[in-house]
Amino acid sequence: MKLRNGAEYIESLRKLHPRIYYKGKRIEDVTRHPATAPHVRAAAMTYALASRKEHRDLATATSHLTGHTISRFTHVHQNVEDLIKKVKLLRLLGQKTGTCFQRCVGFDGINAVYSVAYKIDEKYGTGYFEKFKKWLVHIQDENLMVVGAMTDPKGDRSKGPAEQADPDQYVHVVERRDGGVVIRGAKLHMTGGVNSHEILVMPTTAMDEKSKDYAVVCAVPVDAPGVTMIFGRQASDDRRDKKERIDVGKPSFGSVGGEAVIAFEDVFVPKERIFMDGEVEMTGTLVYRFAAHHRANYGACKTGLMDVLIGAVSYLTEVQGTAKGAHVRDKITEMSHLSETLYSSSIACSAEGWPTPSGAFMVDTMLANVCKQNVTRFHFEVARLALDLAGGFIATLPSQYDLESEDVGHLVKKYFSGVAGIPPEERIKIARLIEAMTGGTALVESMHGAGSPQAQRIMIYRETELQKKVNLAKSLLGIPQKKRASSKKEKPPKAQ
Ligand code: SF4
Ligand code: FE
Repeated sequence: MKLRNGAEYIESLRKLHPRIYYKGKRIEDVTRHPATAPHVRAAAMTYALASRKEHRDLATATSHLTGHTISRFTHVHQNVEDLIKKVKLLRLLGQKTGTCFQRCVGFDGINAVYSVAYKIDEKYGTGYFEKFKKWLVHIQDENLMVVGAMTDPKGDRSKGPAEQADPDQYVHVVERRDGGVVIRGAKLHMTGGVNSHEILVMPTTAMDEKSKDYAVVCAVPVDAPGVTMIFGRQASDDRRDKKERIDVGKPSFGSVGGEAVIAFEDVFVPKERIFMDGEVEMTGTLVYRFAAHHRANYGACKTGLMDVLIGAVSYLTEVQGTAKGAHVRDKITEMSHLSETLYSSSIACSAEGWPTPSGAFMVDTMLANVCKQNVTRFHFEVARLALDLAGGFIATLPSQYDLESEDVGHLVKKYFSGVAGIPPEERIKIARLIEAMTGGTALVESMHGAGSPQAQRIMIYRETELQKKVNLAKSLLGIPQKKRASSKKEKPPKAQ
């Protein structure tokens, strides 16, 4: 692992020259710009934990390719234990940062592409798997951060990639040269894009024969010629100037992952960095595996965030003198119950993990979809309860400027104080933290990150094995059962 800690990761970003825009201006240094630096610090925590003795077991792994000690974020899951350690690591990181630390998207991309490249080679003898392993060893040994780039803009969603009026609505190959291909298009909502080293481009949906040029998986350095990023706005991002450390809510870390548009304007990708090119029938499997891995995460990272939120609200009730109320305890209990339920799903889909023929372990896809589906509800309910307990002053608090004003500061302190002995600044700080953790941008991520709720419902229905359940009912009643077609699935059947 070349990059051994957070400081070395941050330093490594300074040596790159990605083309990044924010509010119409170029960002020269993502590690220092107030819009991006909080996200850099959150991702740096993934490096920091690997350097701390007490967290090394979770934050590092042994590469099955080289035997070297590597960051777990660059590891290919070799067993159920790896899947469970990932869940524990993500919860821990959620607790330490209170936000998205971004590195899981590339992690899940690595795991999905690994098993699918193997599958393509098995069928076509294409040689992608060896190339991918070579690239992966480089990522592992250098300890690089990879942004998993899947979501295309999609244009008119009633039409497929090849039927769009603008063919660039999905990333596609526009030219083939001897040494590689040229790609064009864009990926949206790219978590951690501006502070990654490499982009792992993957198709966003299952493709048909007409869309061969869109079935492309490849790795692109973030500062490759033709790559441009546009960093997204987040709620209250103008508060991030140095004087507003309280008002920003989480002074060190962002309110959510830090997302960017990544545009590819005729980017050349050399052959050795291409891991799928035209094998359309494998695109569905790739998307599904990636999505399942990422959906499995949400009961872990978001539970870490909810741990912080529950703690913040609980402390606020102490500061405000309401902690002993029976309804307060009941609401805290409900928050805890909901967040631990989500964690249970993440653990469960990992415990039910299964080996793909490549050796890489997959989570149970049904349970992973259930996990993410529940996040789109429970995280909102936890946030609702947090706001209920916190009180309306979260929305009406004067600014830090007023708190520190010579003219009116004494009034803010006087009328925003609570239980004697606790400085009013603490109440205000906690309130701002709750505001940041329950506000628009943070919760939208829980709704749509790793796929919108409807995407999970489609998969849950598909995996319900309805006929099997019908047969169970019939067999209890002695009604003749329909024979099921024999399944050639790689996934082991569930005990039922
Ligand atoms: Fe990781 Fe969670 Fe952020 Fe996704 S939302 S990148 S799983 S921390
Ligand atoms: Fe996400």
